[in-house]
Amino acid sequence: MYIIGKDERLEKVLGIVAEILKKGKISCNEYLGEKDLMQEALSFLGIREPSCKEGTETYHLDHLGFFDDISPSRLRVFSSTEELLYKNWPTPLVLLRSLSNHNLRVWAKLEFFNPFSMSVKDRIGWSMITDYLAKYNNRTVLYEATSTNTGMALTALANIKGLKVKLFLPYTIQKASDIILRIMGAEVQRVQKSLTVEFVGDVDELAKREGGIHLNQFENNSNLKVHLRYTAKELDLQVREASLKLRGIIGGVGTSGHLSALSLYFKSKYGDNVKVYGAQPAPGNVIPGIRRVETGMKWLHYVKIDKVQDVTSSEAIEQAIRIARSEGLFVGLSSGAVMATFEKLKKNGALQEGDYVLIFPDHGFKYIEQFATYLEETKRQDG
Ligand code: PLP
Repeated sequence: MYIIGKDERLEKVLGIVAEILKKGKISCNEYLGEKDLMQEALSFLGIREPSCKEGTETYHLDHLGFFDDISPSRLRVFSSTEELLYKNWPTPLVLLRSLSNHNLRVWAKLEFFNPFSMSVKDRIGWSMITDYLAKYNNRTVLYEATSTNTGMALTALANIKGLKVKLFLPYTIQKASDIILRIMGAEVQRVQKSLTVEFVGDVDELAKREGGIHLNQFENNSNLKVHLRYTAKELDLQVREASLKLRGIIGGVGTSGHLSALSLYFKSKYGDNVKVYGAQPAPGNVIPGIRRVETGMKWLHYVKIDKVQDVTSSEAIEQAIRIARSEGLFVGLSSGAVMATFEKLKKNGALQEGDYVLIFPDHGFKYIEQFATYLEETKRQDG
């Protein structure tokens, strides 16, 4: 188990974040009263500081640039590969017609449209490096425990910014990852542990000993922040654009960054009308990228998740294959787990009429080895 102590300051700041989202405005009275915590809350949300003079003014979030972060390039011309990431957001939100009917519509947010790791992890790779360099401007070696995606994202961004990367992968991850990461220029080591969190402490020590930097996706608040500032806001705008009656969001949990941010954002703004469901591997099952909540997660403890659903690796693979064969989208195994969670909730009668959003974290190409084993086994069983 990965033990992360309770952070009372973070809890207070996230409480303020929730209040700001709920009210949709900032009163100068409150702002001036707790300026220090407020400023941190505003940076989590990507909001300009209000110019409070009297202390009696109130600012609506739209007047503090709340949605300014989301500024896609209309004609998709980018002046750098880094821009290709953040000026390409929002990632698409697409209706899955094969799963939808008149009463219940199912949408997928496709994180494999991110350019570097073809996954949701480009977001945190970018924000962790950007925030780090803004503070220290120290171009050194980055050390990170990863199940591939964060490693790809960090390596890509490090290449752009002139840093080196040393990555540590658990033995349970597909072999192709080493090749992909080495091609991208990272140094890669395998660790005889099944989950990344089991050796985060070792990576931390090694980085200190060797004079490198451990950004640590599991505890770095730039993780939660980028999902509040971008992933959640994007989805909010997309939901409005498509006039959805949003009933629920389903996602997988690894560091818990993206699902915690989505829960904090949508539940603060829209209350319990929006349910948030998480997918975790059933006991004894490995689904790359996600893990069981009891193995220790930082941000999940400060937000409300309505249910965490167990999914087996076979269920995740079967659902990923189903999406490929019904919708033409070749998604990764954690997307399959999200789909399986949706199916289970539906079967148990937990879903109401309206719109549900499934977050598909990545593409299927990295998991060819797991898909191949599964296809061989089913072929053998079929006879
Ligand atoms: N799915 C995949 C494929 C991932 O790589 C990850 C994170 O590593 C997740 C899901 C979980 O995302 P988060 O770390 O935001 O909980």
